[in-house]
Amino acid sequence: MKYKSTRNPEITVSASEAILQGIAPDGGLYVPDNFPQIKLEDLMGLSYQDLAIEICKLYLTDFTETEIKSSIYKAYDEKFKTEEVVKYKTIQRYNVMELYHGKTLAFKDMALSLLPYLMTKAAKRMGIKEELVVLTATSGDTGKAALEGFQDVPQTKVVVFYPSEGISDIQKQQMITQAGENTYVFGIKGNFDDAQSAVKEVFTDEVLKARLLRMGYRFSSANSINIGRLIPQIVYYFHSYLYAVKCNQIQMGDAINVVVPTGNFGNILAAKYAKAMGLPIKTFICASNENHILTDFIQTGTYDLNRNFKVTNSPSMDILISSNLERYLHYVQANVKKHMTDLKVFGSYTLKDEIFKKMDDFYGGYATEKETLDMIDACYKENAYVMDTHTAVAAKVFEKYQEETKDSTFTVIASTASPYKFTRDVIKAIDPKVLLDDDFELIQVLHDKTGLEIPRPVQGLAEAEVLHPHVISKISIKNTIETILR
Ligand SMILES: *Cc1c(COP(=O)(O)O)cnc(C)c1O
Repeated sequence: MKYKSTRNPEITVSASEAILQGIAPDGGLYVPDNFPQIKLEDLMGLSYQDLAIEICKLYLTDFTETEIKSSIYKAYDEKFKTEEVVKYKTIQRYNVMELYHGKTLAFKDMALSLLPYLMTKAAKRMGIKEELVVLTATSGDTGKAALEGFQDVPQTKVVVFYPSEGISDIQKQQMITQAGENTYVFGIKGNFDDAQSAVKEVFTDEVLKARLLRMGYRFSSANSINIGRLIPQIVYYFHSYLYAVKCNQIQMGDAINVVVPTGNFGNILAAKYAKAMGLPIKTFICASNENHILTDFIQTGTYDLNRNFKVTNSPSMDILISSNLERYLHYVQANVKKHMTDLKVFGSYTLKDEIFKKMDDFYGGYATEKETLDMIDACYKENAYVMDTHTAVAAKVFEKYQEETKDSTFTVIASTASPYKFTRDVIKAIDPKVLLDDDFELIQVLHDKTGLEIPRPVQGLAEAEVLHPHVISKISIKNTIETILR
């Protein structure tokens, strides 16, 4: 299997190189040059780990099977609260797929507990002697998951930039208290798009890259622009399907729908890749918050950045520049290079009709902040089930989809974070009378109210020592990187 840039098919690399580089030298993203087909029957009964091995080995063809196996067993071990890695909750005719039982309580752990192993093995294979500097822009969850994954991994440094005013107190505390000799965390006065754009710029700054190479450093990325993030995310869509078969909720071969709360389009793209490999998915329900640029795109074929950025109660989805859409455009054979240039120059692009038609298995919808809170409340009252704000966005958009289409296809909703990361808004939803002065005290309040077990990673978080207090302006991101590497 080779990987090629979305912007230039002549740039082809191995899986190891794609993972190490993070982004192609022309600013494009690496995509697999084909989608291997897989027989569902052959996967029945596999554990999560063994399923991950079967899928990853089809993509990581320059890794040995032993390398893949050992990486996967180390990634998905007792760090995950549940042995099966993913948990499910059935509500009416859908399953909530809980992807947040890893160390940092968000679905980012699903890929980021594996990526460091893949990256260090790839570096060894390629004979790379330099230290890997893993640059990471985060809307709240990627940062912590990358920090945990790369903490004290030899030959790596991990550098995270988060929007200082745009994430929950608990998300922030998780990052600024991060231990590890090789971890660096900075708040920026700006939003996720600012952070991601600055990081992407560093990747294509040949002068800076050459200078740092002489100093013994090489950049890589922990963001979902790295194909090493996407491949492990394909696995759980297969897992959720096989689970539904096992529980007799569907018959082998039946189509399902998936609902994904979406920001950078990585998670939902992994579902699309699963379909390309043979998983029967009928509709991809792409759920957005009030930053609903993707809803508009799916409905009209025009991607238009000319709008205001909003900080919402589902901050990990506060994104306007959705990177992985570029991979999707490549998949439907749109003119990626032209669209990306138009986006840069005019702030928008429009798909040709014949390309837009290919998007007919996508449904786009969004939930307002109020609808999100009402959904948490309704779900708790009706099903005694507590969901976080991001999952609630998905559940609300799913409700709208059902009302509009009357589609009764069995559905899997991706649940992307623990309610304990967003205690303020979850409590506000289920009991508006509670005083909301301290997100950390609300951890106990949420437990007392709902009986939901307090996950280990948030216990004692309030008292942890702050090790990374710095907040910088968005224009000094490049400078900061040079300074810490000097
Ligand atoms: C990152 C994240 C999302 C968005 O996922 P994408 O792959 O960027 O679309 C949704 N919910 C939570 C909780 C997240 O951390």
